[in-house]
Amino acid sequence: MSEIQVIPPALERLVRSFSSLPGIGAKTATRLALTMLRKPASEAREMAAALSELHGSIRLCSACMAFSETDPCNVCGDPRRDGTLVCVVEQPADLLAIEKTDHYRGHYHILHGVLSPVDGIGPAELKIKELLTRLEEGTIKEVLIATSSTVPGEATASYLIDALSRFSVKLTRLACGIPMGMDIKYADQHTLARAIESRSEAT
Ligand code: ZN
Repeated sequence: MSEIQVIPPALERLVRSFSSLPGIGAKTATRLALTMLRKPASEAREMAAALSELHGSIRLCSACMAFSETDPCNVCGDPRRDGTLVCVVEQPADLLAIEKTDHYRGHYHILHGVLSPVDGIGPAELKIKELLTRLEEGTIKEVLIATSSTVPGEATASYLIDALSRFSVKLTRLACGIPMGMDIKYADQHTLARAIESRSEAT
């Protein structure tokens, strides 16, 4: 005996898609899908178009590995920014958090993750090789390591300090003030701005 299909398959597919996103449970996914259904078809089409264009128009900046529609990205291509200073962050969201402080005028390097041996994420899975290549070019004078103060974030920072020690660059870290265990992107703007300004030499 087969069960009666209560939810139309098209709606169920959308619920499934929404539930695959971080932080979206089945309940929220259903609510979002129903909201889309109640909106005019034109809005749904607009959203569908934005989603399908996403991978076509956005790529990684070949220098800093940020998501961008242009290569170099707007930060790397901005002559007013200091290309001798590079801030290493875990994720694109961390770059956005630091940009919001308005206290940083250097470049970035996005690792796209943190070292996590239990999840099979080693140095080769992160954009570390690309960072080393940038350093070999010799323009960079200071690397500000701004990984989170979580266990994997700290492990990644230690790995970087070791891997970058062969270059004659100043290695700095965000000053204390970011609570232990905190993700950079959740730090409040003022704390993060202070941590950037009073960054200290990495040991
Ligand atoms: Zn860039």
